[in-house]
Amino acid sequence: MTVPTESTSGPISGSGASVAVTNIGELFTGDLLADTPYGVISDAALVIEGGHVAWTGPRARCPAADTSYDAGGRAVLPGFVDSHSHLVFAGERSGEFAARMAGAAYSAGGIRSTVAATRAASDEQLHARVAGLVGEMIRQGTTTVEIKSGYGLTAHDEQRSLAIARQFTDETTFLGAHVVPDGIAVEDYVELVTGPMLAAAAPYARWIDAFCEVGAFDADQARRVLEAGAAAGLRGRLHANQLGPGPGVQLGVELGLLAVEHCTHLTAADVAALRDSGTIATLLPGVEFSTRQPYPDARGLLDGGVRIALASDCNPGSCFTSSMPLCVALAVREMGMTPAEAVSAATLGGADALGRIDVGALVPGRRADLVILDAPSHSYLAYRPGVPLVASVWRSGRPT
Ligand SMILES: [Zn+2]
Repeated sequence: MTVPTESTSGPISGSGASVAVTNIGELFTGDLLADTPYGVISDAALVIEGGHVAWTGPRARCPAADTSYDAGGRAVLPGFVDSHSHLVFAGERSGEFAARMAGAAYSAGGIRSTVAATRAASDEQLHARVAGLVGEMIRQGTTTVEIKSGYGLTAHDEQRSLAIARQFTDETTFLGAHVVPDGIAVEDYVELVTGPMLAAAAPYARWIDAFCEVGAFDADQARRVLEAGAAAGLRGRLHANQLGPGPGVQLGVELGLLAVEHCTHLTAADVAALRDSGTIATLLPGVEFSTRQPYPDARGLLDGGVRIALASDCNPGSCFTSSMPLCVALAVREMGMTPAEAVSAATLGGADALGRIDVGALVPGRRADLVILDAPSHSYLAYRPGVPLVASVWRSGRPT
């Protein structure tokens, strides 16, 4: 592989200028309608215009562009779409992690210690934390990220968490129903979440989410939260079936959600409901890695006709990784996915889970958000786990 060079003096992208990315060893377009699986093209080129993909195909047929960029024979794939993260928090829980690795069980209760630290933090401290983690994500190839609140759990603290998250992404999710904070009964708390807290949060959120799990919220409470959110104009998402079997997946399907997330403990009826509904199962293998729990059965879901997204679930308790390449590697190694299936789930799958048709694949019309790997193939993300293979990340047609 050669070192990439810019072959002209013009701007790399911009207002109408077109850019041809040439000498791509393997272009993983992610186009499921293409003639080749996942729209993979060898010895390829890609043309960007106005920040969007204008053309993809064999290098020999690349149309003329204002400037060109030599990818040096490396692999190019869509930027990762991380559709599930919790980045607005203060403090850290490495002690809890170490205790877990020494045999302690994971429960949702540890969330409360992060709530205390988050409430005590200044806006500036929270902003700096999110900025640091988003920067980490971008360097590892993530070009679209969803960020949840859920460590404030008062109207004021949820609102400011979302206002801070909004400075980094439009994909913000109100997760007041994360856990019941100390000092309030669950029914009173659901009233607060669906009333004043929702009113404070809604202007800064696109989505509403609930943690439907033993120790957090039951199906009836989660339903009330999502229905109140819908009435306020927020679309629903759901943490479901993470710690054990439960009603969350079926509730999400019944409510017509785009995605239900975790899906670690599923029954045959859950899988059938997902298949028949088209609701996406968002799998978060970093959680199982970090809690030493059994991984979700991605192979069984795919073979059962269920669509899958992969996301990081980056959070200080159950999974403190921001790395989508790690999630891809785990999905391949531990969950029976092929490298192509995992990359597709981490890109197009995430876009679908967020209802986004402008990102997640390198097809004409979508945003030119792309990753150049220091590797000849997307398979290297699983073949060489833990190695920093992301050489360059472009957002809207520009290197970051
Ligand atoms: Zn989560």
